[in-house]
Amino acid sequence: MEKTKDKKENDLMEKIVSLCKRRGFIFPGSEIYGGLAGTWDWGHFGVALKNNIKQSWWKKFVDSRRDMYGIDAAILMRQEVWQNAGHVENFADPMVECEKCKKRFRADQIEDKNKCAECDKGKLSEARQFNMMFQTRVGASEDSSAISYLRPETAQGIFVNFKNTVDAFHPKLPFGIAQIGKAFRNEITPRDFLFRMREFEQMEIEYFVRPEDWEKYFEYWKDEMEEWMEEVGFDMSKIHDIDIAQEDLAHYSKRTTDFEFEYPFGQKELFGLAYRTDFDLKNHKLEYLDEEAKDKIVPHVIEPTFGVDRAVLALLLSVYSEDEKDGEVRSYLKFKPNIAPVICAVSPLLKNKPELVEYASTKVYALLKAEFGCVAWDDNGNIGKRYRRQDEIGTPFCIVIDFDTLEDDTVTVRDRDTGNQERVKVSGLKNYLAEKIS
Ligand code: ATP
Repeated sequence: MEKTKDKKENDLMEKIVSLCKRRGFIFPGSEIYGGLAGTWDWGHFGVALKNNIKQSWWKKFVDSRRDMYGIDAAILMRQEVWQNAGHVENFADPMVECEKCKKRFRADQIEDKNKCAECDKGKLSEARQFNMMFQTRVGASEDSSAISYLRPETAQGIFVNFKNTVDAFHPKLPFGIAQIGKAFRNEITPRDFLFRMREFEQMEIEYFVRPEDWEKYFEYWKDEMEEWMEEVGFDMSKIHDIDIAQEDLAHYSKRTTDFEFEYPFGQKELFGLAYRTDFDLKNHKLEYLDEEAKDKIVPHVIEPTFGVDRAVLALLLSVYSEDEKDGEVRSYLKFKPNIAPVICAVSPLLKNKPELVEYASTKVYALLKAEFGCVAWDDNGNIGKRYRRQDEIGTPFCIVIDFDTLEDDTVTVRDRDTGNQERVKVSGLKNYLAEKIS
C-alpha cells in the first residue's frame, strides 16, 4: 500500500518535471553540456508564471500598504556584511564524505549514518561544517580584501539599507522593507527539482517593530502570509505551520514558524516566518531615532520569507489535475486566471481560411494582446489538440473564431476546467476576461 502511494507520488513529480520542459516552463540548467546540478533555466511560460507570483506578492505586501518600502540591493556586498551578520562563521551545513567513492552528503539528511547510499560500500567520515556561501573576488586584486560572496539570502541587502531607507522616507515604527531577488547557496546535495537549488529567488520582508510588540506582529504576519497563499491558489490542505524547536533555530532567530508543504518527497519547508530580534541591526551597528520620543532604539525584526521557486513547485503540485475528456485522460493546470502564465489562447477554427485568420488576428488577438499581454496565438493542429495543449499550460480560456463570427461578431469561449463553451460578443471580450482576472 505504502509502496503504491510512493510510486504515485514519484510519478507525479516526473509528470510535472516533464510537463514543465515540454511546454516551455522550466529547463535543466546548462543542459546541452550535460547539466549543472542545482540550476534550472526558465522558459517563456515559466517566466510569466514566476512574474505573476512575484507581482501578486509585491502588490499585496508593498503596493497596497503604507508601511512598506521596496529595495533592490546589489548581490555582491562587502565581505564585512557577511562577517558581521555571522554568515562567514555560521552559514554552514554538516557534511559527511564517503571514504570510497568520495560522494558528499548532508549529514542531517541521510538515513544510514554508517554506509554510503551511493556506492553502498564506503564508510562515511565524521561530519564537518561546510560553508554554503559561494566565494568570489571583486576586481583584479588577489589579496583577501577582494573576497566577496554571492548573497545566500536577500535579507542582509535590506539590513544594510535600513539607514538609507529611514533617512529618505522617515517611516514611523512599525514599518517594513521588502525585496525580491536572487540568492545563492552551494547546497551539498541539490535535489527534488525546484526544492533545493544552488541559485534561487527569494521574496523577503524585514518588518521593524518596537521590542515589546514582537509577539503581536509575529501573529499578524502569520495571518498575512496565509492570506496570500490562499489568494495565489496553493492547496491549503497540504500546508502546515510548524513551530521550530529551540535547539533547531537558525543562529539569528528566537522563534521561527515554518510553513511546510506536503511535497511528493515528504513534508518540508515552503516558506518561513522568523523573529530575528535586534540581532542584525545590532551586528551592523544600526539604530532608529524615534522622532516623537526623541529616543534612540534598536528595533526588533519579524521576517516573513518566501522562496519563489518553492512557491512555483508547490503551486504546480497544487494545481496539477487529471480527468477524462472524450474517452482520454487529460492533464491540466488549474491556475487562478490572475496567476496563469497565459490568460487566453486565440484560435481561428481553420488555419487555411484567410478570412478566419484575418479576423482572429486583427480583431481579437491584437485587441487582447494590447490589453493583457499574456495572450497566446494557437492555430496548430485540430481544435481538440489545441485545447489539450492549452490545458497543459493552464490557459483558463480558449477563444475560437469560426464562420458564425464573421456573421455576428461573437466567438466561442471555452472554459479550461469544465470544458463548457459560451458565445461572447467580441466587443465584450475585454471586460469578460478582466472580470475573470479580478
Ligand atoms: P532548508 O531548511 O530547506 O534548507 P532554510 O530554512 O535554510 O531552508 P531559509 O534560510 O529560511 O531556508 O530561506 C528562506 C526561503 O528560501 C525558504 O523558505 C525557501 O522557500 C527558500 N529556499 C531556501 N533554500 C533554498 C534552496 N536551496 N532552493 C530553493 N529555495 C530555497
